[in-house]
Amino acid sequence: MSQENIVEVWNKVLGILENNISESTLNTWIVPLEPQYYDENSFVVHTGQALAPSIIKKNHYFELTSALKSVLGREVEFKIIFDEELAKNFSKKAAKRAAQLEKEETKHTNGTIKYQYDSLTQMQSSNLNLKYKFENFVVGSNNKLAYVAAQTVAQHPGTKYNPLYIYGGPGLGKTHIMQAIGHYIIKNRPNMKVLFITAEEFVNDVVNALARGDEKTKKMNNFRKKYREVDVLLIDDIQLIAGKTRTEEEVFNTFNVLHGSGKQIVITSDRTPKEIPSLSDRLVSRFEWGLMADIQVPDIETRMAILQNLAKDSSIEVPNNIIEFLATVYSNNIRELEGAFNRVTAYASINDVPLDIENVKRIINYSEEEKTYTFDGIVDEVAGYYNISPKELKGTGRSSKVAEARQVAIYLCRELTKQSFPDIGKFFDKKHTTILYSYDKVKAELKTNHLLSYTINSLLKKIEA
Ligand code: ADP
Ligand code: MG
Repeated sequence: MSQENIVEVWNKVLGILENNISESTLNTWIVPLEPQYYDENSFVVHTGQALAPSIIKKNHYFELTSALKSVLGREVEFKIIFDEELAKNFSKKAAKRAAQLEKEETKHTNGTIKYQYDSLTQMQSSNLNLKYKFENFVVGSNNKLAYVAAQTVAQHPGTKYNPLYIYGGPGLGKTHIMQAIGHYIIKNRPNMKVLFITAEEFVNDVVNALARGDEKTKKMNNFRKKYREVDVLLIDDIQLIAGKTRTEEEVFNTFNVLHGSGKQIVITSDRTPKEIPSLSDRLVSRFEWGLMADIQVPDIETRMAILQNLAKDSSIEVPNNIIEFLATVYSNNIRELEGAFNRVTAYASINDVPLDIENVKRIINYSEEEKTYTFDGIVDEVAGYYNISPKELKGTGRSSKVAEARQVAIYLCRELTKQSFPDIGKFFDKKHTTILYSYDKVKAELKTNHLLSYTINSLLKKIEA
């Protein structure tokens, strides 16, 4: 069951309810509900009205579930969840909607009301995650440039930085800030069509469109239509198209069509265009046309601010020393920082234990010795394993043994310390593109080369021991 047609399902439900719930009740309580998702067993809507869940459950639950049953062909549980975000916008929205309905009513002299779902339909087709908005993005010196650029693009889509290219390490907020642009535009420009996709989905779409079969031309046309009829295209993790020639070509064509007609393009990646191996020069240069903004690892204040932001919405009180402790331990990946925070608060509230440092250490499996990997330590271990000297490993020798040891050491330095490619490059006295190449090579080879993965695992055990 796909979620894409949830708006259609919901519209049909409203169509049925129009016949058996009074118009004022419908407009006051049911129309403002925002369908979120549904599956085999349930249908979930959000509301910004605190009273809606109890009132609807008490008075209209039967009509709603019956209508859903006749549309979906099965019984599902109807869940109404109060959403504070929506509540903040609700009064503004309600006023707008009322005005809109009034207009519609006078237009349709026969009295039928046509509901307006512009922004909801926009939302459903855009592929965006509700969590990733500007409102809950914490700005620090590490992401200031990307943030300001993203705001500018959101306010002036297609006219300022085009494309906006945001890059940085994993878990640092690239997807979040890119989607925030989408949300902002949907909210403020109801006529614009926004589409968020990961480069991986784009690759799949190209592959499907090119698959052999009778409908090949039609599929290709649909593909092109999907991507070329948008006003704002958000492509996440573009590095994943590297080396996929046909996909690159479609990205190139899509880029030209959109850019040429003043449509906004936003791209994220874990590296700059030049650092994407084998990316064609014409794409590299296009990606550099607009603005390139990087996101760095956040400093301790920003990490604490992010946790404080999460703590605000948490059901339990999180003491400041715990926030500081977590922010110190998780220093280079906000996804991991958030994950640890969620584990800690969930554990504490389910098991009703106090949030002190001892408990927190236990919950996150913290040990003092962890996370003190150094480049030198890693190189020593790897050199020992291959029976060469650290100096040889870091040198320029090209024998296959030395070259493999060097690549493995580079791979482990990146994986274990999460330092940047240029920093690793400085240590090895190599260009950072060389470091990148080695890292990618080992990573790719690990998928098929069992001996190599055995080597890496043995080394990891030694280094972590
Ligand atoms: P990336 O795409 O760079 O790998 P994400 O955008 O997925 O990272 O971010 C990982 C997690 O960290 C997400 O849950 C996101 O909401 C959160 N996050 C990242 N940066 C920030 C920030 N500046 N403020 C608040 N949350 C953030
Ligand atoms: Mg991402």
